[in-house]
Amino acid sequence: MGYTPEKDMRSMIANYIREQIEIYGDELAMDKAYLPTYGKEESPEIAWQDSVTLQELEELTHTCRKCALSSTRKNFVFGAGNPDADIVLIGEAPGATEDQIGRPFVGEAGQLLDKILAAIQLKREQVYICNILKCRPPNNRDPLPQEVTLCTPYLFKQIALIKPPFILCLGRHAAQTLLDTTQSLSALRGRVHDWRGHRLLVTYHPAALLRYTQFKRDTWEDVQLLRRLYDEFLQNQLS
Ligand code: SF4
Repeated sequence: MGYTPEKDMRSMIANYIREQIEIYGDELAMDKAYLPTYGKEESPEIAWQDSVTLQELEELTHTCRKCALSSTRKNFVFGAGNPDADIVLIGEAPGATEDQIGRPFVGEAGQLLDKILAAIQLKREQVYICNILKCRPPNNRDPLPQEVTLCTPYLFKQIALIKPPFILCLGRHAAQTLLDTTQSLSALRGRVHDWRGHRLLVTYHPAALLRYTQFKRDTWEDVQLLRRLYDEFLQNQLS
């Protein structure tokens, strides 16, 4: 069955209702029996949790209105890069340029990230880049705990679909969220963590490096460590 605006609208409504039930449970003033049901042939939508590709996941989540950031965003910023990447980079949230364009790390910090990747012989197209939040917090304020709780299931599904051996957290928010800790970035960087079977490393966010150049040396060491581990991984794949 091809795309029709009606089908897209029904899918959006069904997803919205399911998401509200997830958030509010029995407090939702709506009986679950009112959820749309479809005949087998015309069943046009699946829950985002059942997506089998990143593209499908993006199509099923880009209209998300689970938190208030949906009303201030210009664009939902899903993520970009190689869907089979060995390395996933995770930042905090879209900034102004990312919100404007709808892609992650496209502003000044993104240009610096490209240079950091080039320093360890990686191109942006080889990795996958995304954020903890898919929508921009106003004035680039820190993500609120509830926003993180509501949005991270999308990130976890992205990682589950990509299955990267390596994850690099860019900045404190990404690291603390995934590792579920309040430890400082300086305590978390420089070593390898295990996150659900993925090897997770932590370094500074490129936007922080633009302001605090003294962190560049540590960042260089962190990405060199990532490169070494990745080279070992590639060697093991060959042998
Ligand atoms: S930040 Fe995440 S949870 Fe909030 S509206 Fe955007 S996609 Fe949905």
